[in-house]
Amino acid sequence: MGEELSRRKFIKGSVLFGAAAATTAAMATTVGATLTSCAPRGANDNSGGTNGNDRVATMQFASGDLSYVVHEADIIVVGGGMSGLNATRVANDNGASVILVDKGPVGHSGNSGVLWGQSFVSAENNKDDGVSIANFFAIDCMGIMNQEQARNVGRAHVESRPRIVIEQSGNLFQRDDDNKVVGNDVEGMAATHNALYKQSAQMLTKRGIPIYSNMMMLDILLDDKGNSAGIVAISLADGSAHVFRGKKTILCTGGYHWATGKTGGSPESTGEGHYALLKRGYAFKDMEFPQYDFCGIHPFGYRPDKEQDQIELAVTFPVNGEIHKRMLNKDGVSYTLGFFDDPSKQDLSAFQGALIATAKEFYQNKATSGDGSNNGIYFNLKGLQDEPNSQSYPSYKGLMRFSTKNLNYNYPDNLECLVNEYSSAGVPAQNPQTCEHEIPGLYPIFVALSAGSSTWNWGQSYLAAKDASAKVAEEASLPAFSPDDVQSALLHAYDYLQRDVKDGEGIRSTEVHRRIQRAFYKGQDFMKSEDGMKTMLAELERIQKEDLPKMVCKDKSLNFNRDWKMAMEIDSMLYCSLATVHAAMARKESRSPFFRSDYPKMDNTNFLCYLWVSVNKNGVWNVEKGDVVDTVLPRSEIMRLLDDSDPKYDISVPNKSV
Ligand SMILES: Cc1cc2nc3c(=O)[nH]c(=O)nc-3n(C[C@H](O)[C@H](O)[C@H](O)COP(=O)(O)OP(=O)(O)OC[C@H]3O[C@@H](n4cnc5c(N)ncnc54)[C@H](O)[C@@H]3O)c2cc1C
Repeated sequence: MGEELSRRKFIKGSVLFGAAAATTAAMATTVGATLTSCAPRGANDNSGGTNGNDRVATMQFASGDLSYVVHEADIIVVGGGMSGLNATRVANDNGASVILVDKGPVGHSGNSGVLWGQSFVSAENNKDDGVSIANFFAIDCMGIMNQEQARNVGRAHVESRPRIVIEQSGNLFQRDDDNKVVGNDVEGMAATHNALYKQSAQMLTKRGIPIYSNMMMLDILLDDKGNSAGIVAISLADGSAHVFRGKKTILCTGGYHWATGKTGGSPESTGEGHYALLKRGYAFKDMEFPQYDFCGIHPFGYRPDKEQDQIELAVTFPVNGEIHKRMLNKDGVSYTLGFFDDPSKQDLSAFQGALIATAKEFYQNKATSGDGSNNGIYFNLKGLQDEPNSQSYPSYKGLMRFSTKNLNYNYPDNLECLVNEYSSAGVPAQNPQTCEHEIPGLYPIFVALSAGSSTWNWGQSYLAAKDASAKVAEEASLPAFSPDDVQSALLHAYDYLQRDVKDGEGIRSTEVHRRIQRAFYKGQDFMKSEDGMKTMLAELERIQKEDLPKMVCKDKSLNFNRDWKMAMEIDSMLYCSLATVHAAMARKESRSPFFRSDYPKMDNTNFLCYLWVSVNKNGVWNVEKGDVVDTVLPRSEIMRLLDDSDPKYDISVPNKSV
């Protein structure tokens, strides 16, 4: 690594702090590109700021035919979902200059822009030093959780007071005369869930924080000592090239569930943050745990292998909370009730319990046929609108009314719902106090394994931004970056746009994208098997070897080019999919939300552990076991609560015997 670093040239000094600034002459030695059409228009001129942000700078490098704009700030936040918005706000609150970069339109993109993530507010009330949050996560993740980190997340909630922040952003809670929030946290929030993100984005704009929408990170940058130095990115709006250079980088790029093929999550989630670390050999845990729920399907439905697009109805997620009672198998039988009748089963969250109960039905071939994949259930909607409200009901009712009125859709009593992957779960090792990665100055805030993941995202982004802002105040200069690295990332991306292969042999990037999704969907189904996963692995390796060299963009435009965006996402989707299938093949048990028909029992002796997956420079994948961090809820207690000899965790046991 050291040798590699020393061979590269590095730009030191800075625009921001007045030391010897990088010059175009310095760049001239490095740029040999033959691009003619990619000159940037220059940075968005929105950097006039308050607090630390008057110290944000931009300058343009030009050399040969390849040029890029360098933007400098103390902290670069990548990704403008809940995590990125929160990290940006906290950095700004703490006096650091900060820039926010997002692949989509900030405030509308990512899982946060698509849908949910409000449950974190209630964690603010916990006064037990993070213990209850750590306990909750430990069980909600079926024992697989870094409890030390979860406890810090719990502490962060109390300290950060999310309700106040939400109200400051313009989302007022409904309160009674005593100033108490009316009803529960969800009902009390006057605006719908994702309005929170839109208004948070507006709040940052009003503060004068530079926000770059439609700006796709290609890779992270490291300095000559291996510390984080920022990122290199391409504007999806005009194809221009950019370096965002900062003392600290907070990576909030969400998950990679778009690779899964059938998801209720966002299309931006293709895993570039994960890929930047995976390709450098860093290990990830929980990659085998894509997270599942069920989406209502329109009668026309869709099948990934039949090239029909997804048409989802806005009544979804019956697994959530108490609504699981309305889940029915193909015979119309409500199957979750038995699971929760037994008081000893109350330890388990409703989310995981409903998934286990569903897996038992699937194991017994009692899934509905759905789109032909036998991956469906019915969601009983009869009388739903007349039931008293509880935690999740108001939003479902509102969405149903919306669809009926605006889509002219009349819901059947039993709506068929298909399995979909709503999120991915892989996370790298990081400091549990600060969330800093092994790469100093880099804070990866990815969506972790759990139904309450917005709780996680809020707490982690708060911890990261607080730590990063405190540290930048002590650091005088910006890290060096290597124009060689910038150039190689840009050339790789521009090559995807420009290349052509012999007539008739090119495969359009949108098709390669789809092939990865199809392989993932079939091989990482709700109910997995060794054979299915081997087929997935073989197909991914084939795509990598045969399809990638032939991948072309039919559209050659630099402006909002979907072909090009998808091409630039392929590497990360492939790596994340490969990491997922390698980890999944190594977990030879069933542990919600991960189910295998060939290993239908939970196995605490061998698999109450993390699986760390990584790939070396030669492309060889490796999976290693690691001990769970059980500093709050001891392993013995986890094993008592999740007793694997209990038939309720054995999905091969028919319902009646549970
Ligand atoms: C269907 C569904 C239901 C859910 N239900 C719940 C629930 O009930 N309770 C709960 O707590 N949570 C729930 N969640 C999870 C919650 O939505 C997420 O945990 C949270 O929104 C994640 O926030 P994030 O900022 O980490 O990621 P995201 O919101 O996904 O944001 C990631 C951001 O990174 C950007 N990005 C990605 N790649 C790049 C790149 N290369 N360059 C630049 N930017 C990039 C994206 O554009 C996006 O803006 C649900 C999620 C879904 C999809």
